[in-house]
Amino acid sequence: MAGEAGGKGAAVAKKTPSTPSAPVATPLTKKDGGSASGGSGKSPAESKTPDPAASLSARLGGMVLMDKEVEGFIFDDPNPAVRKSHRWSAIGKVCSPRPMKMSAMEKAMPRAWGLHKEAKFAEIGPNIFEVQFGSEGDWRHVLHNGPWQFDFSVLVMKDYEGDKRPSEMIFDKIDVWVRVTDLPPDRRTEAFGRALGNWLGEIVWVDVDKERLAREQHLRVRAKISVYEPLVRGFYLRTKREDKEKTWFDFHYEKVPHFCFDCGRLVHVEGECDPPVDSSM
Ligand SMILES: [Zn+2]
Repeated sequence: MAGEAGGKGAAVAKKTPSTPSAPVATPLTKKDGGSASGGSGKSPAESKTPDPAASLSARLGGMVLMDKEVEGFIFDDPNPAVRKSHRWSAIGKVCSPRPMKMSAMEKAMPRAWGLHKEAKFAEIGPNIFEVQFGSEGDWRHVLHNGPWQFDFSVLVMKDYEGDKRPSEMIFDKIDVWVRVTDLPPDRRTEAFGRALGNWLGEIVWVDVDKERLAREQHLRVRAKISVYEPLVRGFYLRTKREDKEKTWFDFHYEKVPHFCFDCGRLVHVEGECDPPVDSSM
Protein backbone atom coordinates (compact mmCIF):
# COMPACT_ATOMS: atom_id res chain seq x y z
CA MET A 1 0.00 0.00 0.00
CA ALA A 2 0.98 3.62 -0.16
CA GLY A 3 1.35 3.72 3.54
CA GLU A 4 5.04 3.27 3.91
CA ALA A 5 5.56 6.97 3.59
CA GLY A 6 5.65 9.12 6.65
CA GLY A 7 6.68 6.59 9.22
CA LYS A 8 8.07 9.22 11.43
CA GLY A 9 5.62 11.37 13.20
CA ALA A 10 8.13 13.95 14.14
CA ALA A 11 9.49 16.52 11.83
CA VAL A 12 12.55 18.01 13.34
CA ALA A 13 14.26 20.96 11.79
CA LYS A 14 17.30 19.35 10.29
CA LYS A 15 20.70 20.73 9.59
CA THR A 16 21.50 22.98 12.44
CA PRO A 17 23.93 25.36 10.90
CA SER A 18 26.93 25.68 13.13
CA THR A 19 27.61 29.22 12.16
CA PRO A 20 25.44 32.12 11.27
CA SER A 21 22.01 30.99 10.56
CA ALA A 22 19.08 32.47 8.89
CA PRO A 23 16.11 33.19 11.01
CA VAL A 24 14.48 35.07 8.21
CA ALA A 25 15.48 32.84 5.36
CA THR A 26 12.26 31.00 4.91
CA PRO A 27 9.72 33.79 5.02
CA LEU A 28 11.87 35.98 2.84
CA THR A 29 12.13 33.79 -0.19
CA LYS A 30 8.95 33.34 -2.08
CA LYS A 31 8.63 31.34 -5.24
CA ASP A 32 10.93 33.01 -7.68
CA GLY A 33 8.51 32.96 -10.51
CA GLY A 34 10.45 30.48 -12.58
CA SER A 35 13.85 31.13 -13.96
CA ALA A 36 13.04 28.45 -16.46
CA SER A 37 16.34 28.59 -18.27
CA GLY A 38 18.66 25.90 -17.12
CA GLY A 39 17.64 22.46 -16.38
CA SER A 40 15.08 20.07 -15.30
CA GLY A 41 17.05 18.86 -12.35
CA LYS A 42 17.47 22.05 -10.42
CA SER A 43 14.34 23.58 -9.12
CA PRO A 44 13.90 27.13 -7.97
CA ALA A 45 12.85 25.74 -4.62
CA GLU A 46 16.34 24.51 -4.06
CA SER A 47 17.50 28.01 -3.50
CA LYS A 48 14.99 28.33 -0.71
CA THR A 49 16.03 26.79 2.53
CA PRO A 50 18.40 23.84 2.32
CA ASP A 51 21.55 25.88 2.75
CA PRO A 52 20.68 29.43 3.53
CA ALA A 53 24.10 30.05 5.02
CA ALA A 54 25.50 30.65 1.58
CA SER A 55 23.54 33.73 0.82
CA LEU A 56 22.60 34.96 4.24
CA SER A 57 25.84 34.57 6.06
CA ALA A 58 27.17 37.24 3.80
CA ARG A 59 24.50 39.61 4.94
CA LEU A 60 24.11 38.56 8.54
CA GLY A 61 27.79 38.02 9.14
CA GLY A 62 28.56 36.49 12.48
CA MET A 63 25.04 36.51 13.80
CA VAL A 64 24.70 33.90 16.50
CA LEU A 65 21.96 31.31 16.48
CA MET A 66 19.12 32.06 18.79
CA ASP A 67 18.38 29.46 21.42
CA LYS A 68 15.18 28.39 19.74
CA GLU A 69 16.96 27.93 16.44
CA VAL A 70 19.53 25.75 18.07
CA GLU A 71 16.88 23.66 19.73
CA GLY A 72 14.88 23.16 16.55
CA PHE A 73 11.20 22.64 15.98
CA ILE A 74 9.86 19.34 17.18
CA PHE A 75 6.53 18.17 15.90
CA ASP A 76 5.20 14.90 17.17
CA ASP A 77 2.12 14.37 15.05
CA PRO A 78 -0.87 14.04 17.37
CA ASN A 79 -3.11 12.87 14.58
CA PRO A 80 -1.25 10.53 12.26
CA ALA A 81 -4.54 9.24 10.94
CA VAL A 82 -4.58 12.21 8.60
CA ARG A 83 -2.10 10.32 6.48
CA LYS A 84 -4.72 7.74 5.70
CA SER A 85 -6.18 10.12 3.19
CA HIS A 86 -2.96 9.69 1.24
CA ARG A 87 -3.13 5.93 1.04
CA TRP A 88 -3.66 5.99 -2.72
CA SER A 89 -1.47 8.97 -3.39
CA ALA A 90 1.48 9.29 -5.68
CA ILE A 91 3.97 12.01 -6.45
CA GLY A 92 4.90 13.00 -9.96
CA LYS A 93 7.35 15.25 -11.70
CA VAL A 94 7.33 16.55 -15.24
CA CYS A 95 10.98 16.52 -16.29
CA SER A 96 10.93 19.60 -18.44
CA PRO A 97 12.68 22.96 -18.29
CA ARG A 98 9.30 24.52 -19.01
CA PRO A 99 6.98 25.10 -16.07
CA MET A 100 4.05 22.72 -16.31
CA LYS A 101 0.50 23.93 -16.42
CA MET A 102 -1.39 22.27 -13.65
CA SER A 103 -4.76 22.76 -15.34
CA ALA A 104 -3.52 21.03 -18.48
CA MET A 105 -2.11 18.22 -16.39
CA GLU A 106 -5.41 17.72 -14.57
CA LYS A 107 -7.18 17.53 -17.87
CA ALA A 108 -4.78 15.33 -19.82
CA MET A 109 -3.47 12.77 -17.41
CA PRO A 110 -6.64 11.12 -16.10
CA ARG A 111 -7.45 10.32 -19.71
CA ALA A 112 -3.92 9.24 -20.59
CA TRP A 113 -3.87 6.99 -17.57
CA GLY A 114 -7.38 5.72 -18.22
CA LEU A 115 -8.50 6.32 -14.64
CA HIS A 116 -11.76 4.82 -13.46
CA LYS A 117 -12.34 7.18 -10.57
CA GLU A 118 -11.80 10.88 -10.16
CA ALA A 119 -8.36 11.92 -8.96
CA LYS A 120 -7.30 15.03 -7.08
CA PHE A 121 -4.21 16.91 -8.16
CA ALA A 122 -2.19 19.36 -6.12
CA GLU A 123 0.96 21.18 -7.09
CA ILE A 124 3.57 20.79 -4.37
CA GLY A 125 6.72 22.14 -6.01
CA PRO A 126 8.11 23.30 -9.35
CA ASN A 127 6.79 20.76 -11.87
CA ILE A 128 6.07 18.45 -8.92
CA PHE A 129 2.58 17.41 -7.95
CA GLU A 130 0.64 15.01 -5.82
CA VAL A 131 -2.25 12.92 -7.08
CA GLN A 132 -4.79 11.31 -4.83
CA PHE A 133 -6.39 8.50 -6.77
CA GLY A 134 -9.96 7.47 -6.23
CA SER A 135 -9.19 3.78 -6.05
CA GLU A 136 -6.41 1.36 -5.35
CA GLY A 137 -6.66 0.05 -8.88
CA ASP A 138 -6.02 3.46 -10.40
CA TRP A 139 -3.13 4.06 -8.04
CA ARG A 140 -1.54 0.71 -8.85
CA HIS A 141 -2.02 1.15 -12.56
CA VAL A 142 -0.27 4.52 -12.64
CA LEU A 143 2.63 3.38 -10.48
CA HIS A 144 3.23 0.11 -12.28
CA ASN A 145 2.33 0.66 -15.90
CA GLY A 146 4.46 3.59 -16.91
CA PRO A 147 6.43 5.15 -18.39
CA TRP A 148 4.25 8.20 -18.92
CA GLN A 149 4.76 11.49 -20.53
CA PHE A 150 3.17 14.88 -20.42
CA ASP A 151 3.67 17.59 -23.00
CA PHE A 152 6.49 15.60 -24.69
CA SER A 153 8.42 15.30 -21.46
CA VAL A 154 8.98 12.35 -19.19
CA LEU A 155 6.58 12.19 -16.30
CA VAL A 156 8.19 10.34 -13.42
CA MET A 157 5.66 8.87 -11.00
CA LYS A 158 6.52 7.43 -7.61
CA ASP A 159 4.84 6.37 -4.45
CA TYR A 160 3.72 9.04 -2.04
CA GLU A 161 6.49 10.51 0.09
CA GLY A 162 4.87 12.54 2.80
CA ASP A 163 7.90 13.21 4.91
CA LYS A 164 10.17 14.71 2.28
CA ARG A 165 10.40 18.26 1.07
CA PRO A 166 9.77 18.43 -2.66
CA SER A 167 13.18 19.97 -3.31
CA GLU A 168 14.79 16.81 -1.93
CA MET A 169 12.65 14.27 -3.74
CA ILE A 170 14.52 12.36 -6.40
CA PHE A 171 12.98 11.68 -9.80
CA ASP A 172 15.76 10.07 -11.75
CA LYS A 173 14.41 6.65 -12.77
CA ILE A 174 11.52 5.09 -14.60
CA ASP A 175 10.44 1.51 -15.13
CA VAL A 176 10.24 0.33 -18.72
CA TRP A 177 9.33 -2.88 -20.51
CA VAL A 178 12.00 -4.08 -22.90
CA ARG A 179 11.59 -6.92 -25.36
CA VAL A 180 14.25 -9.04 -26.93
CA THR A 181 13.33 -11.11 -29.95
CA ASP A 182 15.03 -13.98 -31.70
CA LEU A 183 16.83 -15.18 -28.59
CA PRO A 184 18.22 -18.72 -28.58
CA PRO A 185 15.70 -20.95 -26.79
CA ASP A 186 18.15 -21.58 -23.97
CA ARG A 187 18.20 -17.88 -23.21
CA ARG A 188 14.46 -17.38 -22.96
CA THR A 189 14.47 -17.95 -19.26
CA GLU A 190 13.68 -16.00 -16.15
CA ALA A 191 17.29 -16.24 -14.97
CA PHE A 192 18.54 -14.76 -18.24
CA GLY A 193 15.91 -12.01 -18.14
CA ARG A 194 16.75 -11.18 -14.56
CA ALA A 195 20.47 -10.89 -15.28
CA LEU A 196 19.79 -8.85 -18.41
CA GLY A 197 17.49 -6.48 -16.51
CA ASN A 198 20.19 -5.90 -13.93
CA TRP A 199 22.73 -5.28 -16.66
CA LEU A 200 20.45 -2.71 -18.22
CA GLY A 201 19.49 -1.09 -14.94
CA GLU A 202 17.71 -2.73 -12.08
CA ILE A 203 15.43 -5.66 -12.69
CA VAL A 204 11.80 -5.23 -11.73
CA TRP A 205 10.08 -8.17 -13.35
CA VAL A 206 10.53 -10.83 -16.01
CA ASP A 207 7.39 -11.85 -17.88
CA VAL A 208 7.53 -15.65 -17.77
CA ASP A 209 5.11 -18.55 -17.54
CA LYS A 210 4.85 -21.26 -14.90
CA GLU A 211 7.90 -22.98 -16.27
CA ARG A 212 9.79 -19.72 -15.96
CA LEU A 213 10.13 -19.37 -19.69
CA ALA A 214 9.26 -16.51 -22.00
CA ARG A 215 5.58 -16.55 -22.91
CA GLU A 216 5.85 -15.66 -26.55
CA GLN A 217 8.45 -15.24 -29.22
CA HIS A 218 10.17 -12.55 -27.25
CA LEU A 219 11.42 -12.21 -23.73
CA ARG A 220 9.90 -9.26 -21.85
CA VAL A 221 11.86 -7.68 -19.05
CA ARG A 222 10.82 -4.76 -16.88
CA ALA A 223 13.74 -2.73 -15.59
CA LYS A 224 14.36 0.50 -13.78
CA ILE A 225 16.51 2.80 -15.87
CA SER A 226 17.97 6.26 -15.39
CA VAL A 227 16.31 9.11 -17.25
CA TYR A 228 19.67 10.90 -17.40
CA GLU A 229 21.56 8.16 -19.26
CA PRO A 230 21.25 7.50 -23.00
CA LEU A 231 18.82 4.69 -23.76
CA VAL A 232 20.68 1.44 -24.24
CA ARG A 233 19.93 0.20 -27.76
CA GLY A 234 20.77 -3.44 -27.29
CA PHE A 235 23.48 -5.79 -26.21
CA TYR A 236 26.17 -8.12 -27.44
CA LEU A 237 25.61 -11.54 -26.00
CA ARG A 238 28.72 -13.32 -24.85
CA THR A 239 29.20 -16.17 -22.43
CA LYS A 240 32.56 -15.01 -21.21
CA ARG A 241 34.22 -11.65 -21.23
CA GLU A 242 36.97 -12.96 -23.46
CA ASP A 243 34.57 -14.50 -25.97
CA LYS A 244 35.41 -13.38 -29.48
CA GLU A 245 32.08 -14.48 -30.83
CA LYS A 246 29.29 -12.13 -29.97
CA THR A 247 25.86 -11.49 -31.33
CA TRP A 248 23.94 -8.25 -31.20
CA PHE A 249 20.39 -8.13 -29.90
CA ASP A 250 18.17 -5.09 -30.17
CA PHE A 251 16.10 -3.81 -27.30
CA HIS A 252 12.54 -2.96 -28.21
CA TYR A 253 11.15 -0.56 -25.66
CA GLU A 254 7.43 -0.53 -25.06
CA LYS A 255 6.06 3.01 -25.04
CA VAL A 256 9.16 4.99 -24.37
CA PRO A 257 8.56 8.68 -23.79
CA HIS A 258 9.89 11.30 -26.11
CA PHE A 259 13.69 11.30 -26.07
CA CYS A 260 16.50 13.32 -27.63
CA PHE A 261 17.67 11.94 -30.97
CA ASP A 262 21.11 13.48 -30.55
CA CYS A 263 22.12 12.01 -27.23
CA GLY A 264 19.46 9.34 -26.64
CA ARG A 265 18.48 10.74 -23.25
CA LEU A 266 14.99 11.14 -21.90
CA VAL A 267 16.01 14.10 -19.79
CA HIS A 268 18.96 16.43 -20.22
CA VAL A 269 21.02 17.08 -17.14
CA GLU A 270 20.92 20.84 -16.52
CA GLY A 271 18.98 21.14 -19.76
CA GLU A 272 22.10 20.62 -21.87
CA CYS A 273 22.42 18.08 -24.66
CA ASP A 274 25.65 16.14 -24.41
CA PRO A 275 25.95 13.70 -27.33
CA PRO A 276 28.20 10.74 -26.61
CA VAL A 277 31.49 10.36 -28.46
CA ASP A 278 31.74 7.23 -30.57
CA SER A 279 34.42 5.13 -28.92
CA SER A 280 33.90 1.99 -30.97
CA MET A 281 35.28 3.27 -34.23
ZN1 LIG B 1 20.26 15.42 -26.11
